[in-house]
Amino acid sequence: MTAPFAGDWTTGRPALAFQHCRACGARWLFARSFCPQCGGADVEMREASGLGTVHAVTLVTRAPSEALRPHAPYLLVLVDADEGFRVMAHAAPDVAIGDRVAASFRPFGSGLVPYFACVE
Ligand SMILES: [Zn+2]
Repeated sequence: MTAPFAGDWTTGRPALAFQHCRACGARWLFARSFCPQCGGADVEMREASGLGTVHAVTLVTRAPSEALRPHAPYLLVLVDADEGFRVMAHAAPDVAIGDRVAASFRPFGSGLVPYFACVE
């Protein structure tokens, strides 16, 4: 029996979560009521370890809003989480493709965002 889902960074709790299909085992990030792989409705939220490998990096030099301008330049990354889903997040300036990373959470704009940094 798993504990009820307690929320993640999108609800202000410093955690990274994903969905898992009990029927086929698929895993994905954005919550939906059915599995995008098999169409099954037996899906559950799970909390991720926050560990993964960097798939891509992008340096944002022009922030998308006036409120975010003081943060620029900042790094955005795509991370392949150890649990098998991909997540876009912020990252430390020295993070590069292929690096092993771990998530923490930081205030950004009006909310909390995942922030990855290298692990040894
Ligand atoms: Zn499925």
